Amino acid sequence: MKNKIDGHVHLENGPLNKEYVWEFVRSAQEKGITTLHILDHTHRFFEFRDMYKGVYESSPLQREWFEKKQVNSIKDYHKLIEEMKKENFPIEVKFGLEVCYCDKNEQFLKNILSQYPYDFLVGSVHSIDGFLYDMDAFSKELLWEKQDPTTIYKRYYDQIQSAIESDLFTQIGHPDVIKMYNYPPGYDLIETYEILAKCAKDHHVKMEDNTGAHYRYHHQDVGLNKEFRKILENEGVEIITASDAHYPEDVARDFDLLPK
Ligand SMILES: [Zn+2]
Ligand SMILES: [Zn+2]
Repeated sequence: MKNKIDGHVHLENGPLNKEYVWEFVRSAQEKGITTLHILDHTHRFFEFRDMYKGVYESSPLQREWFEKKQVNSIKDYHKLIEEMKKENFPIEVKFGLEVCYCDKNEQFLKNILSQYPYDFLVGSVHSIDGFLYDMDAFSKELLWEKQDPTTIYKRYYDQIQSAIESDLFTQIGHPDVIKMYNYPPGYDLIETYEILAKCAKDHHVKMEDNTGAHYRYHHQDVGLNKEFRKILENEGVEIITASDAHYPEDVARDFDLLPK
């Protein structure tokens, strides 16, 4: 297999303990992965709560979702990382966070993220002005059927650009995942792809080729949009393969379907 890095796998559905980390490492090793980036969403950790005010105050459905996700202190995660650094892993294993980025939280993020030396930091956009765009249970009702898709796409890419320019992150999570429900953007995205590619190059940020939307939401693209990938490659942006696995068995999922 050509893609030997899985740059984005989640501990989300399991405990923050050594045994669970090893399940991901073993799965990666079985699939020929030599570098594994383990992370979790900032929404898991109490210390990031203030950042989600806009999300949990926008709708009771989102509040219910959010409260279920908040289960640990970031200190539990840091303790786990320190413990894991002493393990003798058969592959390279790095630890970081997937940060829900929104430009208005930049100062908050600067402060909190500088308090621990993560191996990598993924910046992802998961909401549009407080509304989550990828929840099968309610995103269509709360967002997609209320707002013009063009506005949603533009807000999404505007936030992706700010995330790159913030210099807070080493990589950008699923940069074009807003396509997941196949709502047409209503405008040509090529110029956006070109701006983002230049920006990522200037700020030395990796862009993910993330297979999550393919196997979880059945989007026809296996990872990045074809044109977007070509533009990123031409600009010399580093592309990092990522499964966005939420379970050990999904590590490296569908990497064999990515273009060679
Ligand atoms: Zn994400
Ligand atoms: Zn993720």
